[in-house]
Amino acid sequence: MTMPDVKHRFIPYGRQWIDQDDIDAVVEVLKGDYLTTGPYIEQFEEAIAEYTGARYAVAFANGTAALHGACFAAGITEGDEVITTPMTFAASANCVLYQGGTPVFADIDEKTYNIDPQEIEKKITAKTKAIIPVDFTGQPVDLDEILEIARRHNLVVIEDAAHALGATYKERKIGSISDMTMFSFHPVKHITSGEGGIITTNHRDYYETLVQFRQHGITRDPDRLQNPDEGPWFYEMHFLGYNYRMTDIQAALGTSQMKKLDPFVERRREIVKRYNEAFSDVPGITIPFEKDDRRSSWHLYVIRLNPEHLKNADRKRIFEALRTQQIGVNVHYIPVHYHPYYRERGYEKGSYPIAEKLYEEMMTLPLFPAMEDDDVQHVIDTVKHIMSTYSR
Ligand SMILES: *Cc1c(COP(=O)(O)O)cnc(C)c1O
Repeated sequence: MTMPDVKHRFIPYGRQWIDQDDIDAVVEVLKGDYLTTGPYIEQFEEAIAEYTGARYAVAFANGTAALHGACFAAGITEGDEVITTPMTFAASANCVLYQGGTPVFADIDEKTYNIDPQEIEKKITAKTKAIIPVDFTGQPVDLDEILEIARRHNLVVIEDAAHALGATYKERKIGSISDMTMFSFHPVKHITSGEGGIITTNHRDYYETLVQFRQHGITRDPDRLQNPDEGPWFYEMHFLGYNYRMTDIQAALGTSQMKKLDPFVERRREIVKRYNEAFSDVPGITIPFEKDDRRSSWHLYVIRLNPEHLKNADRKRIFEALRTQQIGVNVHYIPVHYHPYYRERGYEKGSYPIAEKLYEEMMTLPLFPAMEDDDVQHVIDTVKHIMSTYSR
């Protein structure tokens, strides 16, 4: 096999897809009356609620702010423990710390790389208040098992579905199942609003608290005011909230992008099918595993490199060789407890063997809807070539 085209353009692991209609939607807002908290916020929230089948949706400035809001609404406070996975972006655990709570990690399942319900059960104490499972790479977690554990121990489930917009669990859309579900609209995610995030929920009380939380803890709702007769200018702050509002500019972009979500997810699935076919019989590579009763929306395509199979090379060497060939490989994620901030707070390497072993072996290949067939083929050819160079 000859070395594939070295002068190929750089292919990132993910990126947005913006069309003229998205640009037009943003320009229309810029020419209008409201740059923030205008009519597009509600339109965007309605579009997400309708798509996911959730009763309510509350937009935030970004997904991390949305997770913070969900932790507040769940009543997480000092002394509370919240169980999450170490195999995620730091925000899934940081949101607990914002509220003064303690993240407790539970190890992952060897095959799906998602949090293992049996490990969750082992980590429950009298202080446990909530679970934040993460739909890693877009594959929904074991929701039935997790929700059953939560009901039994009176815990709130905040699903971090930053990877899973468009995914389904037992034929139901992600976003309508957990107590609260978070989606992110960062440019590498399924649709983008620049920065942006949202919480979906079926519970009216969470919804009302979230709306107030993203606005300093302030309300103007006459039904919620303690002194409703003060005057038409009146508003009240009831708790310490934040300015976590999404702008109308972002919401217009998000609303326009929502119209294309299904074709975006479809294209991701098509590329994954090609990758799976190409890599399933490559020695040394383990392709992702998808459970029968759920459909991933494929935010990331993560392969595993078997170290016993490699000759004169490790994951780092393969990674560097691919980068040299303009393939924007990445590693998702550095386990959260490896970060110095967490280590300084007593979290230890060695505590979550499956996540830690996976971290040594995993690599994310480029996957985004705007990827052309030619780019997909370039990734396939280059990965195969490099693997054959470094295989026993
Ligand atoms: C992207 C992401 C977030 C945070 O979203 P932002 O919108 O970037 O704040 C949280 N959790 C996971 C797993 C993510 O991938």
